[in-house]
Amino acid sequence: MSVIEVKNLTVKYENTVALYDVSFSIEKGTLAIVIGPNGAGKSTLIKSILNLVPFEGEVKIFGKPFSKLSKEEHLKIGYVPQKFNFPKSLPITVDEIMHLSFAKIPVSKLEKEKRIEKFLKMAHLEKLRNYKIGDLSGGQMQRVLIARALMFLPEIILMDEPLAGIDVAGEKTFYEFIDSIHQRFGITIMLVSHDVTSVDKYADIVLCLNKRLVCYGNPSEVLTETNFHKLYGQDMGAFRHRPCPKDGPCELYKEQEVK
Ligand code: ADP
Repeated sequence: MSVIEVKNLTVKYENTVALYDVSFSIEKGTLAIVIGPNGAGKSTLIKSILNLVPFEGEVKIFGKPFSKLSKEEHLKIGYVPQKFNFPKSLPITVDEIMHLSFAKIPVSKLEKEKRIEKFLKMAHLEKLRNYKIGDLSGGQMQRVLIARALMFLPEIILMDEPLAGIDVAGEKTFYEFIDSIHQRFGITIMLVSHDVTSVDKYADIVLCLNKRLVCYGNPSEVLTETNFHKLYGQDMGAFRHRPCPKDGPCELYKEQEVK
């Protein structure tokens, strides 16, 4: 069963085409990793799925457009943003963030406590519970964000470049953590990554994005030299960051440019 369906998705920002005619679907329980160069539209894809940017085409979650989802269905979608909204200097602890996030959720106090404890433990954060967020490393902060998203028992988690700010040793731990929650809960995970080395090991599905969907499938099929060249090589370079003409239709201009 497809839990995310994207059909002919095109996103334009003023004079830039961020995504062009992207179509794919993600089956329940899949760990999908989105790769592509800077400016390829990876964040825009996550934002389109969450209905955070205007788009053309069709995006469905659980078989419905985002705007038609119920409150309960919204809670089944977890989002781990690229950047944390709280200023690091805010005198707030890990424990307080977890409680604040739960504030408006209709779950008993006891259940909240249980879940906070469980997910902090799972993210190996129990010893950091009373730490101020400003004292955490990038990797620890990412684990807080993921534990926070998991507390609501989501069926889908979307993560935008969660490895930004994490060192190489932290990346391995991070992927192992993601892999363990994926295996344990069967959650559908869509994760944007700038790093292609771990994709082969952990992804069920890889989406290679460079404005268009350059490749899509399981890692052994799609992680080929030809696809890497299409994704990061000169072929696509000419297309990237080219603005639309001021006086002409964007789509036609772009169609001629895309190889
Ligand atoms: P990625 O996540 O792959 O680096 P993004 O989705 O952030 O790519 O951006 C895709 C393109 O859209 C880039 O050219 C970027 O400069 C542009 N872009 C992103 N957000 C905005 C915005 N809010 N306004 C204008 N252009 C934007």
